[in-house]
Amino acid sequence: MTDLDAFARASLDGYLALVREHESTLTALDEQSGDGDFGHNLSHGLERAASRAAGAPDSEVWRSLATAFLDEVGGTSGPLFGLLFQAIARAADHASTPAEAIGNGSRDGLAAVQRVGEAQVGDRTLVDALQPAVDALAAEGDLDSAADAACRGAADTARLRARMGRASYVGERAVGHPDPGAVGIAMLFVACAQATGSEPPGAFGELTGSR
Ligand code: ADP
Ligand code: MG
Repeated sequence: MTDLDAFARASLDGYLALVREHESTLTALDEQSGDGDFGHNLSHGLERAASRAAGAPDSEVWRSLATAFLDEVGGTSGPLFGLLFQAIARAADHASTPAEAIGNGSRDGLAAVQRVGEAQVGDRTLVDALQPAVDALAAEGDLDSAADAACRGAADTARLRARMGRASYVGERAVGHPDPGAVGIAMLFVACAQATGSEPPGAFGELTGSR
C-alpha cells in the first residue's frame, strides 16, 4: 500500500465516522431548507462506498466513492459528490502527495460540479464550501488550510438566501442555518486533513455545534 492509498482509506473511514456522528444535524439542516434527505443521502453513499472499497484494491478507494455516489445515491447531491470523487480518483492516480491529489482533484471536481449544476459562490450550495477549499489548496498547498476554508465557507452560507436547488423554493426560511451540502463538503476536507494527522479546525465546531 502506498502512502496515497493509506491516505485514501483513512479519508473514507474518517469521513464515514464524521457523517455518522453528525447525520442528524445534516438531516435537520436539510429539513430547514429542503426535504430532509441529505443526511441519509450522504451517509448511505459513504456506507455503500465503504462496502465497495472493502473488497477492492487499495488504489481503488476514491473510485469506490465515485461509483457508489454516481450509481446508488439519489437527490441532487448524489451525482455531484460522485463527480467530485471521480475527479479526485483521477488526480490521485498522478499525484505524489495527499495535498496534490486533493488539490488537483477538487479543482477538477469543482469544474465538473459547476458544469452540470451551474452554481456560483453565493448561491448557497456546496460550491460555497468547495470553492474556498480549492482556492486555499492552490494558494497554501496544504489540507489544513483547505479544511479551515471549507468550514468557514460552509458557515458563511447561513446568511445566504438560496438561488439554486430545492432550498430556493423556501426563500428566507433557511437563512440563519448553513447549507447542508456545504457542511457535508466541509466534513470531507476535515476528514482529509485528519487523515494526515491534523486536528479539526476551530470553525468545524461552530458548524456542528460541538464547541
Ligand atoms: P435534493 O434537494 O434533491 O433533496 P440533496 O438533499 O441530496 O438534494 O442535496 C441538497 C444539497 O445539494 C444542497 O444543500 C446544496 O448544497 C446542493 N445543491 C443543490 N443544487 C445544487 C447545484 N445546482 N450545484 C451545487 N450544489 C447544489
Ligand atoms: Mg434534500
